[in-house]
Amino acid sequence: MNVIGPDDPRYADLTAGINQRYAAKPSAVHLPRTTAEVASAVSAAAGRRLSIRSGGHCFEDFVHHEGVDEILDLTALSEVNFSDGVFSVGAGARLHDVYEKLYLGWGVTIPGGICYSVGAGGHITGGGYGLLSRRDGLTVDHLYGVEVVLADGRTVVVTRDSAGAEADLFWAHTGGGGGSFGVVTRFLFEAPLVTPPSEVLVAALSVPWTHLDERAFARLLGGYARWHHKHRAPDAPGRALSSLLMLNHRCNGTVGLVAQIDAAAPHAARVLDEHLSAVLGDLVTREFAAAGEFGPMPGLSRPRRLPWLRATRFLGTNTPVLNDPTLRAEHKSAYVRSTLPESQLRTAYEFLTRPDVTNPNTMLVAFSYGGAISAVDPAVTAVAQRDSTFKLLYQAFWSTVDADAGNIAWVRDFYRSMYAETGGVPVPGEVVDGCYVNYPDADLSDPVWNTSGVPWHDLYFKQNYARLQRAKSAWDPRDFFHHRQSIRPA
Ligand SMILES: Cc1cc2nc3c(=O)[nH]c(=O)nc-3n(C[C@H](O)[C@H](O)[C@H](O)COP(=O)(O)OP(=O)(O)OC[C@H]3O[C@@H](n4cnc5c(N)ncnc54)[C@H](O)[C@@H]3O)c2cc1C
Repeated sequence: MNVIGPDDPRYADLTAGINQRYAAKPSAVHLPRTTAEVASAVSAAAGRRLSIRSGGHCFEDFVHHEGVDEILDLTALSEVNFSDGVFSVGAGARLHDVYEKLYLGWGVTIPGGICYSVGAGGHITGGGYGLLSRRDGLTVDHLYGVEVVLADGRTVVVTRDSAGAEADLFWAHTGGGGGSFGVVTRFLFEAPLVTPPSEVLVAALSVPWTHLDERAFARLLGGYARWHHKHRAPDAPGRALSSLLMLNHRCNGTVGLVAQIDAAAPHAARVLDEHLSAVLGDLVTREFAAAGEFGPMPGLSRPRRLPWLRATRFLGTNTPVLNDPTLRAEHKSAYVRSTLPESQLRTAYEFLTRPDVTNPNTMLVAFSYGGAISAVDPAVTAVAQRDSTFKLLYQAFWSTVDADAGNIAWVRDFYRSMYAETGGVPVPGEVVDGCYVNYPDADLSDPVWNTSGVPWHDLYFKQNYARLQRAKSAWDPRDFFHHRQSIRPA
């Protein structure tokens, strides 16, 4: 096995993820090539703190933490193959490689995330949703099994057909988050897997902030929420459509909407047009190409018909800010169940137009949810939030240490003001439904920022936390695999 120490030129690349706020100083980074090598690294690490890294995209310091003694990097376990009716996806594979290999090899896919470089290991264990999820559900809705190296170095394969404690271990990997139970080396999906659309209609539009006063802004975000509420059912006419509304701060100049629909869905062009009108109304200014988090998208200001893989590659790689090697970031999330109250629309407007903010990469992003996702009972997988209609992601990107305080404060204040009535966090209720574990937020376990009395684990997992703890007690009772917000033994 390749073992990298502090003197190795590769060390710096392997001890920080994409968010440069977090770095680890481990004595070694292991780069196993096989499951057996993972098992021997885990066995040898006994008593020392080991963190697991697949794509390095964690929003928090769960992987790249100062207290970590060793890192296990799964990059080399990235094989995607098919045998005996089962697809196997290596935990170290990046999402775009997974999409390309599954689609070009067998004409199938998983309904995972948008960004090309996210690793399967963290993404799938946390649920995994993307532009096909309203049509096809979450990635974990299709998961058949996982191969896991346990704290004692044993390797087990547990599946949907497992019983007893093994069934709990499998279930814990359907949204319980990474870094709590063991090292996943492979994810298994049974055939037939999702067939992606052969073509999609994609549109990317932007609205200049000069067109947005408070009323127009409320119509825009309110329109996004209303469309998703109306089309929330698994059989809704809009189930084949997903979109992202990128509400950049006013100093950016524009806000953007990117929408995609399966071109073969009934009345696809009309459904897409109705979505654009429902959100943008008379703000539609087709002469503008979208800009913002997803960069400029010239040529998409009118819906374009594209082969699915080409559209997926384009949308997944067109995020210039994420290629910044000095990237620093802060994020917070909320699941939304209904339309938004006027007070929240007002608060969003206030923070997105605050005159003291000068960073154009501060934003609130709304992502489609609902549709097929809501066809699954909350207890079937570890993902408890099944009737939400969209998610909100509060975030800021910047690149220098001296800008940390101001950017973090903006995200924190915005979030605390949005959920002021429930202790500064989106406590599950009529409007919101907690937070997405794959958008982890350390502040949820800090009583300064979460005064709701609802613990972080209930915001992520709600009633499913008890079963996650049962799995943890059975499979890692000494808490060998842990981080700031890992599942605690019961
Ligand atoms: C730019 C960007 C875009 C994103 N887009 C989406 C999206 O569209 N949809 C979505 O659902 N999410 C999205 N996410 C969130 C993403 O799913 C999570 O950040 C995910 O956890 C990243 O996985 P990773 O392997 O890259 O991260 P890592 O930092 O390597 O790991 C994340 C967590 O999982 C654990 N882990 C990693 N590998 C394993 C393993 N093999 N076994 C056990 N535990 C493991 C780590 O210890 C850590 O706790 C996005 C994130 C970013 C940064």
